[in-house]
Amino acid sequence: MKRDDFPIFKTTNRNKPLIYLDSAASAQKPQVVIDAIQQFYSSDYANIHRGIYELSERATAAYEATRLAVQQFIHAKSLDEIIFVSSTTEAINLVAQSFIRPYLKAGDEIIVSAMEHHSNIVPWYLLTEQCGAVLKVIPVLDSGELDHDAYQQLFSSRTKLVAVTHASNVLGTINPIKDMARIAHEKGVPVLVDGAQAIVHMPVDVSDLDCDFYAFSAHKLYGPTGIGVLYAKKQWHDKMLPYQGGGEMIETVSFDRITFADVPKRFEAGTPPIASAIGLHAAIDYVSSIGMEKMAAHEQQLLQVLEASLQAIANLRIIGTHHPKVGVVSFVLDGIHAHDVGSVLDHEGIAVRVGHHCAMPLMTRFDVPAVVRVSLGLYNTEQEIEALTRALHLTRKVFG
Ligand code: PMP
Repeated sequence: MKRDDFPIFKTTNRNKPLIYLDSAASAQKPQVVIDAIQQFYSSDYANIHRGIYELSERATAAYEATRLAVQQFIHAKSLDEIIFVSSTTEAINLVAQSFIRPYLKAGDEIIVSAMEHHSNIVPWYLLTEQCGAVLKVIPVLDSGELDHDAYQQLFSSRTKLVAVTHASNVLGTINPIKDMARIAHEKGVPVLVDGAQAIVHMPVDVSDLDCDFYAFSAHKLYGPTGIGVLYAKKQWHDKMLPYQGGGEMIETVSFDRITFADVPKRFEAGTPPIASAIGLHAAIDYVSSIGMEKMAAHEQQLLQVLEASLQAIANLRIIGTHHPKVGVVSFVLDGIHAHDVGSVLDHEGIAVRVGHHCAMPLMTRFDVPAVVRVSLGLYNTEQEIEALTRALHLTRKVFG
């Protein structure tokens, strides 16, 4: 499916045809995204918002057109609910520092889950140090599903936020965000969703999910690095205090008094990643032209083949068997360190990720130091999974 759209596949890895199974870390870029960025720098580039000349107006219009494209892509009700940030990581830190920290009292609680990426743990942990917040952790069952009964028990009158991932970057598990948000809202608690892994694997409708914040990075959506999105429900805008000070985020400035712009400008201080925004727009157009449902169906088909092939390998243990899951599968080969598996695969031209995947608490939960992670993108094929399987059998032979 659409593999030829990606010029990277004309290159090799260790002199073998590249088999890229690391899209969960970052997806490869289609030519249309590369071209859009190049075209923008060649013909439309200027700084935005402040220029009164045509070129700057053109650049501004292109940048703002991306905001509209994002709004439509994730079905936000209002354009000003779309804040451009550098990444998922920045989006989560922004919520922690602008929306939670100013109102937090020692002993207040944040609910996170045991399957979070560090970027949805550390910003909250920092609040434990900065203001005495307490982290409450939703446990993960052996299957890789969140313990939903335990989740309900974690709320108290001190709960200030639920911060949970839409899809796990290690287990692949898709969490039932709509239900989790409903439960939180019944208790008056807002919900932040880390959408870094979900955004590329399924249609996302923030209005239907009814989450309060949704964070994702363009680079996992076949777009460029350097830009991400924070969806922030309008209801909370007045409570979100300035986070980084600088140009563009103000209304008026004197040495005695500064007044701040409305959201989203309040959180877009300084020159933003303009060209990356143009690339994000091209990426959204690209995936929309294929269709998110069609992409998801292709990945689910490959996922089935992948899981069946892995299950047939001796002494291979998949970490996280719960479905529904995105095209992400992690495993250990008993007696062989994940890094050794990764090295053998690399020599066969196969790019996978090994290690703790920025989810150390999850490694502890499953009692493994590291796992091998295979993650799928729209360009992967069944032949590549066959090649992976052959290489894993080879790994077994090499290491006994
Ligand atoms: N959350 C999850 C679930 C992720 O997989 C990642 C990226 N690996 C992030 C957050 C952080 O994304 P970024 O590095 O683009 O900020």
